Amino acid sequence: MLIDSHAHLISKFYKENLEEEILKTREKEVFVNNIGFNLESSKEVVAIAKKNKNFFASVGIHPYDVSDSEKETIVELKKLAQDKKAIAIGEIGLDFYRQITDFNLQREKFEEQIYLAKELNIPFIVHSRKSFDDSLDIIKKIGYFNGIFHSFDYGINEAKKVLGLGMYISFSGMLTFKRRADIVEVALYAPLQNILFETDSPFLSPVPMRGKTNHSYFVEYVYKFFSEIKKIKIFELEETIRKNFNKIFSVNIIEKEV
Ligand SMILES: [Zn+2]
Repeated sequence: MLIDSHAHLISKFYKENLEEEILKTREKEVFVNNIGFNLESSKEVVAIAKKNKNFFASVGIHPYDVSDSEKETIVELKKLAQDKKAIAIGEIGLDFYRQITDFNLQREKFEEQIYLAKELNIPFIVHSRKSFDDSLDIIKKIGYFNGIFHSFDYGINEAKKVLGLGMYISFSGMLTFKRRADIVEVALYAPLQNILFETDSPFLSPVPMRGKTNHSYFVEYVYKFFSEIKKIKIFELEETIRKNFNKIFSVNIIEKEV
């Protein structure tokens, strides 16, 4: 059983093909944590999760979208996050790679949303790009470590710090890219009980699909790549990821009867 712990299967990206995309994901029996990045997409992922058994939802405001969020946004997010199928606050974080929004506003909204996750006692999903120290400082200041660094984009030293706090690392298709030996090193180091896999669909398609639109079922290539480098059997890896996902998100995906 495959689990994509981070995807954006929403109409903005899949347009008129969204229904088909969801159907195909269901047929392939892939479980998906579908992730919002602003209020509108957060509402959509919750609605999709309510209708589809193998879909969960995470709600949050992405650092690129913080300038559109208003005072009431956090109240709305809180309501959405209390839905049965909502399992985390995300994606939230800091992105200093592209100055799309004000950095201080990003810090403020990141902090506010981690506090929301803490209040609701659910995990938060971190987008952190070229902002590692700042991201970690905020998390440490709040002292709530029930979180995941998604599509991990840092090296071994940063990974050690994240894992040392008991947080999770999620690997995307970037793991399979040439010239990302730094992420391979992280994968070789990371304890199996602290990892998840994702696609970040429609972005970051893994090799051999690189450059094409990504799909949740392409998470298969991340599993395969990881099983080869870490020398672990694919069925054991699937079992490990299922347990990890159940644990961090307090859900109960059961193994399919054979
Ligand atoms: Zn994402």
